[in-house]
Amino acid sequence: MKSVTILGATGSIGVSTLDVIAQHPERFKVFALSASQNIERLFAQCQAFKPRYAVLTQVNAAEQLQALLKQVDIPTEVLAGEEALSFIAAHPDTDYVMAAIVGAAGLRPTLAAAQAGKRVLLANKEALVMSGQLFMDAVQSAGAELLPIDSEHNAIFQCLPTQNRQQGVQKLLLTASGGPFRTWEQERLASITPAQAVAHPNWSMGKKISVDSATLMNKGLETIEACWLFNMPMEQIEVVVHPQSTIHSMVTYCDGSVLAQLGNPDMRTPIAYALGYPERLPSGVEPLDFFQLARLDFERPDLVRFPCLRLAAEAHQAGGYATIALNAANEEAVQAFLNQQIGFLDIPRLIEQVLAQACSGTPTTLETIFIQDKDSREAALSWIKNKKM
Ligand code: NAD
Ligand code: MG
Repeated sequence: MKSVTILGATGSIGVSTLDVIAQHPERFKVFALSASQNIERLFAQCQAFKPRYAVLTQVNAAEQLQALLKQVDIPTEVLAGEEALSFIAAHPDTDYVMAAIVGAAGLRPTLAAAQAGKRVLLANKEALVMSGQLFMDAVQSAGAELLPIDSEHNAIFQCLPTQNRQQGVQKLLLTASGGPFRTWEQERLASITPAQAVAHPNWSMGKKISVDSATLMNKGLETIEACWLFNMPMEQIEVVVHPQSTIHSMVTYCDGSVLAQLGNPDMRTPIAYALGYPERLPSGVEPLDFFQLARLDFERPDLVRFPCLRLAAEAHQAGGYATIALNAANEEAVQAFLNQQIGFLDIPRLIEQVLAQACSGTPTTLETIFIQDKDSREAALSWIKNKKM
């Protein structure tokens, strides 16, 4: 029986994780759940899974949830704040930690789980983009197990050799759906609304990653994620636009073989894979029906209409401070776009400006990471403030 902590339980990945766990009550129990502010959903999840701990961001929200749980005799202890997240992530009684908080807010608890030697199921790509070497070193020195949840990285993980992970590997091919605006002319991109941007053609996800998929920043963050996870230089990672999202990614070998992982676009597949690894578990996802699949298409990404992919590659080449700036500027830009303060095409413009101000080199401590994060957010916010719509 493995005990699981879910950071970001009320989000898209969190809900899918609980769905898989509920299918295997003999294998998994829930140790702790966290949410930012969604008390109702966290309350329902606590009733269903009876975790030892629940964590909310604000103290008053935690008190409300504690009172609700008391009324229905659920003994879950409710905690509040950032330190409580690291507490449930590193607790000796938890075996697996699903890192599914969105954005920089997930870095500290995800790193705490790695430092405590847990099996870390990594959905929160922003944490790895921000902390790269520091995070991978923590995994290594604590003997943590790092299993990718991002469908592309999970696919690559499945396609790599099981023994010597790099033997014969020539390239990693990261597939990208291309997002909802793949076929749009440049002129139309300026008028994109938040509602259009969050409507992903193939996947149902949180708002932030949906906008990232529309700008292709998601793929940019994922190329950086792949460099760290698989210890590969950027030159050996290629983005292939594949609008059907049936192939989740591929590995090219030196003998001319290409291995791919295919499936319906449902995050329960990579989640079940990472929970059960090295065993395969039923996930609730139907296998592909090849007689229903009309076709599989492939294209090169268009870096002119979608400059975020280029910006991410440039940031990775420039070093750790630049990838922190990239992520921070992107988080602020996406939020401002969702709030209708800036337009869709302002997202890469803002990021490019903030990137130019990043320190050179790579930070070696969490403190310096958060200083760069804060400076870049301030620069982004002042750009947004000065921008006339
Ligand atoms: P979401 O917005 O649906 O959920 C985010 C979760 O994090 C929620 O539980 C929310 O309460 C919590 N949260 C948000 N801000 C927080 C804060 N400041 N402090 C503490 N908790 C906070 O997002 P999602 O789509 O589930 O994505 C989560 C992560 O997984 C992201 O990093 C995303 O890039 C990654 N990911 C998601 C998918 C997907 O299909 N949804 C696929 C691959 C990777
Ligand atoms: Mg992905």
